Amino acid sequence: KTFGGKAGAFERLLGRTPRGLRAVRDVSFSISRGEVLGLVGESGCGKSTLARVIGGLLEPTGGDIAFRGVKPRLQMVFQDPFSSLNGRWRVDDIIAEPIRTHRLRPKGEVAGRVAELLEQVGLSPADGVKYPQAFSGGQRQRISIARALAGEPDFLILDEPTSALDVSVQAQILNLLRDLQSRLGLTSLFITHNLSVVRLMADRVGVMYLGELVELASADDIFTNPKHPYTRLLIDAAPDLDPIDRTLHPIPGELPDPSRPPSGCSFRTRCPYAQPLCAETPPPLRWEAAREVRCHFDLTPKSLSVPA
Ligand code: SF4
Ligand code: MG
Repeated sequence: KTFGGKAGAFERLLGRTPRGLRAVRDVSFSISRGEVLGLVGESGCGKSTLARVIGGLLEPTGGDIAFRGVKPRLQMVFQDPFSSLNGRWRVDDIIAEPIRTHRLRPKGEVAGRVAELLEQVGLSPADGVKYPQAFSGGQRQRISIARALAGEPDFLILDEPTSALDVSVQAQILNLLRDLQSRLGLTSLFITHNLSVVRLMADRVGVMYLGELVELASADDIFTNPKHPYTRLLIDAAPDLDPIDRTLHPIPGELPDPSRPPSGCSFRTRCPYAQPLCAETPPPLRWEAAREVRCHFDLTPKSLSVPA
């Protein structure tokens, strides 16, 4: 299924973690060129697994990733800027590595390109001779971003890129990403458990629960008119008073063991609207008005206020 897609189509992924657990099932979406797709969900919902499958770090057990019919050039930025950079390499070598690997520039132009990338992420070309240890968490994340851009990706995967940073530094990195997004027209998948971050960054938002996509819609629709009960609970649980802190506040009930998901609808053990049908039959993703919802029922705000 392709929607809104001019260029890219990332489709149908079935992921397995190294433990053999089926962490991601039947997730299918497409991303248009220049679009930011946000993926949000509680920790353990499979969003990082999905990122790693798409990024090629985990072998999917089935499925396919296509970018205008060919394999896309992907780059990833990870959550932890302390473990994702090789401390034995100089920063200029770290950034030059994807340029050399993919032979993106003639030898004589690599140093100039590295200097340009350092400036693009708000660092100084003189920082290139230092080692990652010389930098703070936020600066290291800038280095990670420069390295990702150096690979000239068709598609960038950002997996919780600011979650490990202090709030003030987080804002700086988000601003940098927004700026790069608009200047370079990057196409990206932005994974986070923070609702305000996804609202700030994403054009469309996918909500994941227990390895499945349960709702996918424009960021506006997700935040102003969420349809899936899980999405609604997540958004209602976020305190409006504090626009900065919109991490995922707990919703009632426990996330089930992903290796033993409930029968039928995976959300039924926490859903206030569950019906007998929900335990029997898994709901398919329904396509309605530029939105996909994985629920048996069309829960309008009116019907939601009166649980059956
Ligand atoms: Fe809730 Fe049933 Fe819809 Fe699942 S299918 S979200 S349990 S109402
Ligand atoms: Mg994660």
